[in-house]
Amino acid sequence: MEHSYREVLTWGGQLAMDEELPLCEAAESSLQTLMRGNARYLEHSRNPAELTDRIRLSTAAEGQKPYAVVICCADSRVPPEHIFSAGIGDLFVIRNAGNVMTPSALASAEYAAAHLHVPLILVMGHRGCGAVMAALQKHREPGALGDLIAQVAAGVGHAHNPREAERNNLCHSLDALGESEVLRDLADRGRLAFAGAIYDIRSGAVELLRDEP
Ligand SMILES: [Zn+2]
Repeated sequence: MEHSYREVLTWGGQLAMDEELPLCEAAESSLQTLMRGNARYLEHSRNPAELTDRIRLSTAAEGQKPYAVVICCADSRVPPEHIFSAGIGDLFVIRNAGNVMTPSALASAEYAAAHLHVPLILVMGHRGCGAVMAALQKHREPGALGDLIAQVAAGVGHAHNPREAERNNLCHSLDALGESEVLRDLADRGRLAFAGAIYDIRSGAVELLRDEP
């Protein structure tokens, strides 16, 4: 694979750790906005973003210009707009159980990056993910859910514990992003960057993924 998740993680991790990297300023600014939003959420335990008719009418008239794509789990304890103190038109959110990079999820990410020119894609797993636990414990489910858990299981791999499983699944989703020619091309031209994070459903904190061994 041309762009392994390690490289994708390096983009995301270095975005957070090393401001001297020659990455697009827009992506860096987006990540900082997200993390500042999470800090505000942690400080105030509410979402101070604008949700008025003014912002509804202006975005309806002028179109959307979200500053980040957030790909995360459908878990009701993981609401991206609240976690990042974001309002209407701020985030392009893609969700399913286990933040699996299904074809529709990938297509949505490509749409946001290529047509809305969103400079950053953040893939966010979370602690206590039921889909990851089901995969780790090799639960069998009927129907479409079984297919989804099988995809999460492919991401979880041979993890020994929930934390490792959550990280593996997240890295697997980042891997899948790196396989998209559309996204790779945008990244190669400095128009798009990726980041990975884990959300703690107890503390409310978003922790950026580092490129650890
Ligand atoms: Zn989950």
